[in-house]
Amino acid sequence: MTDRIRIFDTTLRDGEQSPGCSMNLEEKLKVAAQLEALGVDIIEAGFAIASEGDFEAVQAVANMCDTAIVASLARAAAADIERAWAALKGARNPRIHTFIATSPLHMKVKLNKSPEEVLEAIRFSVGLARNLCGDVEWSAEDATRSDPDFLCHAVETAIRSGATTINLPDTVGYATPETYGAMFRDVITRVPNADQAIFSTHCHNDLGLAVANTLAAIIAGARQVEATVNGIGERAGNAAVEEIAMALRVRQDVMPYQTRIVTTEITRASRLVSGVTGMQVQANKAIVGANAFAHESGIHQDGMLKDSSTYEIMTPESVGQGATNLVLGKHSGRAAFRSKLAELGYDLSDNEFGDAFKRFKDLADAKKQVFDEDIIALVDDEVLRGHDRIQVVEVEVYCGSNGPQRAILTLSIDGEEVTAATKGNGPVDALFNAIRKLVPHEEAVLNLYQVHAVTAGTDAQAETSVVLAENGRTVRGTGAHTDTLVASARAYVNALNKLMVKRGKSALSASA
Ligand SMILES: [Zn+2]
Repeated sequence: MTDRIRIFDTTLRDGEQSPGCSMNLEEKLKVAAQLEALGVDIIEAGFAIASEGDFEAVQAVANMCDTAIVASLARAAAADIERAWAALKGARNPRIHTFIATSPLHMKVKLNKSPEEVLEAIRFSVGLARNLCGDVEWSAEDATRSDPDFLCHAVETAIRSGATTINLPDTVGYATPETYGAMFRDVITRVPNADQAIFSTHCHNDLGLAVANTLAAIIAGARQVEATVNGIGERAGNAAVEEIAMALRVRQDVMPYQTRIVTTEITRASRLVSGVTGMQVQANKAIVGANAFAHESGIHQDGMLKDSSTYEIMTPESVGQGATNLVLGKHSGRAAFRSKLAELGYDLSDNEFGDAFKRFKDLADAKKQVFDEDIIALVDDEVLRGHDRIQVVEVEVYCGSNGPQRAILTLSIDGEEVTAATKGNGPVDALFNAIRKLVPHEEAVLNLYQVHAVTAGTDAQAETSVVLAENGRTVRGTGAHTDTLVASARAYVNALNKLMVKRGKSALSASA
C-alpha cells in the first residue's frame, strides 16, 4: 500500500456551506488558484445543481485548474449527476462525487428508502457517473452511524459499479479516533474488491476530533483526506487541511506518509480564506493562529533565544509565516508595488492594478509603514469587490459627545450614484441607517458587527466584519480601511451584495 496521502480540499463546497461564508465567483477562483499553489490534489469546487451560481463557479474552477482534479458534488439522481458533468467537462482532470446516506436513521427519515433501494440507487448513480467520467468518488453519508454489514455491501456495490474513491464520512462529527480507524480497517479488510479503490476520510469537528479522527483513519489505511483551509465548514467545521499537513510532516517518525502540500503556502491560503469569507482565525488556532508561534513566558523566551528547538516543534517559516517585514512606504513607486504584489502571489489585471495602486498610495500617505498584511487586506478588499453591484463612493460622518451623530453617504448602485443623509445613535448607526435608506432591506437583521486591526498601532488599517441574516440566509461582508467608519460601510455594503447573490440561490445544500 502506497504511503502517499491525497489531499481533497472542500473549502469551496463544504466550507462555503458554513453560515455566512458564501463566496462569489471571483473569490472562488482566487481561492482555487491558491489551493493549486498549496498543492492540494483535488479541489471540490461546489455542488453544481444547487444554483446557477454554483454551476458557474464549478465550471470556472474546472476550466482554470492545471494540476488539481476538480470535483463537483451530486446526489444519487440522474439530474444531479448530469448537471455535475456539464459543469466539469472542460476540466483537465474532472471527478464526479456522488453520495447517498447509508445509516438506518438517514435512509428511513431523510430518503424514505429501504436498504435494498439504497443499494439500487448506488448501482444506478455510480454507474451513470462512471459512464460520463473516468474518475468517480462515492460517499456513504453518515457512514459512522451505519450498520457495518450494510456499509460493506454498499461499498462493494459502489466499487463494482465503477467508483474509484470511497469516502466514509463522519457527517455528524460523532466518531472517536479508535472507532473511526476501526471502521476503515473493518471495511478495507471485509470488502472483497477494496483493493480497487482509494479510501477517503471526511471528518467534522463537533467534538473537536476531526483531525485526530482523520489521522487515525490514515493509519488504518485511508489514502485520501477531505479537509478545508482553517477548518471552516458546517457547524463546528471540517478537519483543517493545514493541521493534517503539518502533523504528517512534523511526526514522520510515527506517521511516515507523504503529501504534495507546499507547507510554505499555508499562511497565505489561510489569510486568503479568512479574508474572502470574513471568518477570522482564532488567535490560538494551531498552525495559522496569530499566537501559534508566539512565546510569552520568560522561561520559554530564554530557551528560544538559546535554541529555538527547545520549545518549537516546527518553524514559522515552514508554514510561510515570515518575520513581519517593513515593505513599502509613501515613496514606493509602481514597480516596487508590482513586484511586492507578485511576491505575495497576486496577479492583477491592469485595471485592478491601477485601482490597487491608487489605494496603496492613499494608505501610504495615511500610514507611514506599510506591511505585507496591509497590502493583502487592501488588495483583497479592492479586487474582490470590483464586480459588486453596490459600491461605496464617499463617506462623511459627524460624531462626538454631543449627538445625534450624522452620516452622509454616497453609493453607486449598478453604476448610478445616490446620496443619503441620516442620523443615528452613534456614527456607525448613522452610517448603517444611510445604507438602509439607499438600499431598503427591511427583512435583514444585523447579527454581528466586529472590528479588528490588521497590524499594530493607532494608524493601522481596520478590518471590519458584518453579518446579515434574512429568512434563514446568513451572509458575511468584510471591509478594510485606515478609517474604521469607511471600513464599516464597505463591510456592510459587501454583505448586502452577497445577500443579493444569495437571494437568487435555492435553499438547497448538501450534508455529505
Ligand atoms: Zn461535510
